[in-house]
Amino acid sequence: MKAVCWNGAKDVRVETVPDPKILNPRDAIIKITSTAICGSDLHLYDGFIPTMEKGDILGHEFMGEVVELGSEVKNIKIGDRVVVPFTISCGNCFFCNRDLWSLCDNSNPNAWMAEKLMGHSPAGLFGYSHMLGGYAGGQAEYARVPFADVGLFKIPDGLTDDQVLFLTDIFPTGYMAAENCHIKPGDIVAVWGCGPVGQFAIKSAFLLGAERVIGIDRIPERLRLAESYSGAETINYEEADPGEVLKEMTGGRGPDAVIDAVGMEAHGTNFDAFYDRVKQAVRLETDRPTALRQVLLTCRKGGHVSIPGVYGGFLDKIPMGAAFNKGLTFKMGQTHVHKYLRPLLEHVQKGDIDPSFVITHRLPLEQAPHGYEIFKHKKDNCIKVVLKP
Ligand SMILES: [Zn+2]
Ligand SMILES: [Zn+2]
Repeated sequence: MKAVCWNGAKDVRVETVPDPKILNPRDAIIKITSTAICGSDLHLYDGFIPTMEKGDILGHEFMGEVVELGSEVKNIKIGDRVVVPFTISCGNCFFCNRDLWSLCDNSNPNAWMAEKLMGHSPAGLFGYSHMLGGYAGGQAEYARVPFADVGLFKIPDGLTDDQVLFLTDIFPTGYMAAENCHIKPGDIVAVWGCGPVGQFAIKSAFLLGAERVIGIDRIPERLRLAESYSGAETINYEEADPGEVLKEMTGGRGPDAVIDAVGMEAHGTNFDAFYDRVKQAVRLETDRPTALRQVLLTCRKGGHVSIPGVYGGFLDKIPMGAAFNKGLTFKMGQTHVHKYLRPLLEHVQKGDIDPSFVITHRLPLEQAPHGYEIFKHKKDNCIKVVLKP
């Protein structure tokens, strides 16, 4: 089959690789009909996630048709049209039983690697390094899905791929980010980063009752989309200091909740952003947490800080003094996709949201390297790329 393979930093290629096989009686094989490039794939593309190996198949946002099943799969049939959460979960462990699906204890065969870095291992993820399981990803013609009974969600007829593909990650991720803000009527939420996850966080914050949502970015078409689709107010941080503007917008108090939908490769205009770039370039720092510093300094006292943006390692110069003295509450982590998938599918069916609003590019799988390039550099007004095998 054809698959998008990682060959080193900024080097992805479409290669011919062996088809996936059933390895375990709870596996399924999916023929992929749509797959997307995610902002977190760019951290792999840029070479910032450790334990990637040449030839690894990328991709964790994919859907398709079931073509083969292991002998112990009961809830799914061959021919079912399914979406696949990007987190791999067993459905039976301490964490899965508590709805903490992205923390599953049974889905990372390389847990020891993650334990060395983090103390404990999160769930395995599709196409996201050997430290997180070494699973082949879904930017391919076929993929193997473990724990198929809990890892595949059947899609009702009448919905297009474009409407349901993002239930695999970015819609639940944006929604959980908004839910982690504990929004109350009248709340003002500020969202750093108006990429795809930021867009879904903004829309979800409104769905959850926020009165005003303010998106912060530097890319004009992303700011315009946040305004036109979700009704957000926006700040271009290259034109104005978001901290100052947010103070003015909130009568000096600051937003009730702040979302960092940027993560480890933040851009910035202040000195600290330059400092991070230098330290990251010489490998003295794994992450560039410019956005995180800003959210902590900007959030109102007693507010909520929600972090869906991916962080990989050890962060420098985090204003913990501000966070502590302002009594902030932190919520973060990989998304518990299994928990949100069905309720969010209902929102799509009811027409509360059409997740395809973020798609700017649909490309054949063969053009994946071009897709990575335009998404990474925000060329050609790119916000979200869907690949069609
Ligand atoms: Zn993703
Ligand atoms: Zn589990």
